[in-house]
Amino acid sequence: MSFSGAAGVIFGAFVFFLGLSVGSFLNVVVYRLPREGLSVWRPRRSFCPACQNQLVWRDNIPCLSYILLKGRCRYCGAPISARYPLVELLSGVLALSLYGVYGFTLQFFFYWYFACALTAVAFIDSELMVIPDLLILPTILLGLVIAVLCPNPILTGSFLWDKLLLKGWNPRLVSLSGAVLGFFCGFLSLFAASLCYKLWRRKDGLGAGDPPLLGLIGVYLGWRSIFPILFLSSVIGLLSVILTLAAGRIPARGRMGSMRVPFGPFLVLAALFWLFYGEAIINWYLSLVTVA
Ligand SMILES: [Zn+2]
Repeated sequence: MSFSGAAGVIFGAFVFFLGLSVGSFLNVVVYRLPREGLSVWRPRRSFCPACQNQLVWRDNIPCLSYILLKGRCRYCGAPISARYPLVELLSGVLALSLYGVYGFTLQFFFYWYFACALTAVAFIDSELMVIPDLLILPTILLGLVIAVLCPNPILTGSFLWDKLLLKGWNPRLVSLSGAVLGFFCGFLSLFAASLCYKLWRRKDGLGAGDPPLLGLIGVYLGWRSIFPILFLSSVIGLLSVILTLAAGRIPARGRMGSMRVPFGPFLVLAALFWLFYGEAIINWYLSLVTVA
């Protein structure tokens, strides 16, 4: 999709601002979904978590309000978390990047929803060390519906895709089978890893939400994405722990073993990377194998 020409630039800017606004809603999801007594839809107006004052429209403009308010609540002066503009900006950039890849198609909306759900998961998990089922389960179900509505060869890989179509399979069924296979590959690989750790150390090494999260990723990106994403997320996770230790935030002696790091954000980072570059990497790898 090209952004050249006045129309392209205007439409790109429109998609970016749409992304910023959706990011505003994502902030509501990130704050309210994991907290008891709050729902995403009620109360309707946003409020300051510190003084509970309801916000007026001019305090709700994505990114701009944060800058104008200098990162503090208008009423009580409490600092506003940098997460708010960060989520909004990230959502804008993701929307624009996906639009650049898919144009204004159904696939654009589907992958945009997927990217938004992942973003919410990453920020909730990094803050509260929990991945809400309320976010994961509907997203998995939607992914299966999408696989049927928009048959997608990425879910099986072109080799398996061609083979099954030649055998007379319906493309929608092949696509759905790919999504289901992706779910089980993702879910079972982390579930098995977590079970082994539990048997070995007699305590939980992974959060209960991590296997379903990787299952969800498999539903949207296919079984071939699972092992590269596991590898990449482990590398990013390890690097970030090393950097945290190097920055001097070393836990007290003897407490290294109890240091808890949420794995969800690393899985999300790796999955977003794979969403944009996965196919190119697989094609590059296949070209090497074919030449050899
Ligand atoms: Zn306040």
